[in-house]
Amino acid sequence: MGESKIILDEVVPARKPWGARIAAKDVLTITDLEGQQAVDFLCYDGANPQDRYSATNTVKVQGNIFVSLGSVLYSDSGAALMTVIEDTVGRHDTFALACNAKYYEDLGYPGHVNCTDNFNEQLARFGIAARRGWPALNFFYNTFFDGSNQLLFDEPWSRPGDYVLLRAVTGLVCASSACPDDIDPANAWNPTDIHVRVYPAERRFSMAIAHRVTPDAEPKLTRETGFHTRTSALTSRYVTYAYAVKVSTNTDPSAITHRARYSVSRAPLDKLSSRGSIPFAPTLPSSLLIRVKPSEG
Ligand SMILES: [Zn+2]
Repeated sequence: MGESKIILDEVVPARKPWGARIAAKDVLTITDLEGQQAVDFLCYDGANPQDRYSATNTVKVQGNIFVSLGSVLYSDSGAALMTVIEDTVGRHDTFALACNAKYYEDLGYPGHVNCTDNFNEQLARFGIAARRGWPALNFFYNTFFDGSNQLLFDEPWSRPGDYVLLRAVTGLVCASSACPDDIDPANAWNPTDIHVRVYPAERRFSMAIAHRVTPDAEPKLTRETGFHTRTSALTSRYVTYAYAVKVSTNTDPSAITHRARYSVSRAPLDKLSSRGSIPFAPTLPSSLLIRVKPSEG
């Protein structure tokens, strides 16, 4: 990391909201200071705050239900808003609604502070109308599906100091809420402070995800290879498509007959297709899965 000045550096107290404008290319870090704390998050096109983060577009384009390293956060209109460039946890919820007053009321806690009211309070500053529930991106919130496709949640995987790093693709309005949920495992029954920091665009970060060799080990970030300086110069504006093709007449779901990777110029969502043809791909059967992984220069 270089010595460039940090633009914003704040501890957000437990149960409290946060919001700010972030310039294009700047990097936002959200850190779970004490571990096991969910951070509900929303971002909007700064030039058109009616166009906001869409879990649907994000999940469909990447072909994976979890946001992690390499995920691009797309808006309702299909514009790329942010890219995840580092992630030390690898488990963040894309499905659940931010907690709201009714959730707590139904469980016997009327008037409980909640993420939806937190968002409404912050977003009013940017002229964004209040809602009864926000479909947010919930960092560190540990949700998953059981065998009958029921959405479940458990204590977060994040440990003290775990973080995500996101680069703004365009100018943004961002808001978050340190989730105040103390009545279930969402925050391990103990809401705690979070930390947000914004680095200027020139600060370089390598794209990386953390691995723990054993459950108690310190997380280790993946590192650039010795070829990075040369290859990144050639590929920083490229998107990698990986696809696997299954012959449709074969009922064995593991019968992947062909795998490949392509890199093409980064394109807006309307130029991508999650089911269909890529400009220079060979002729493909109808069953096609495409994953999108942007490179970070
Ligand atoms: Zn919440």
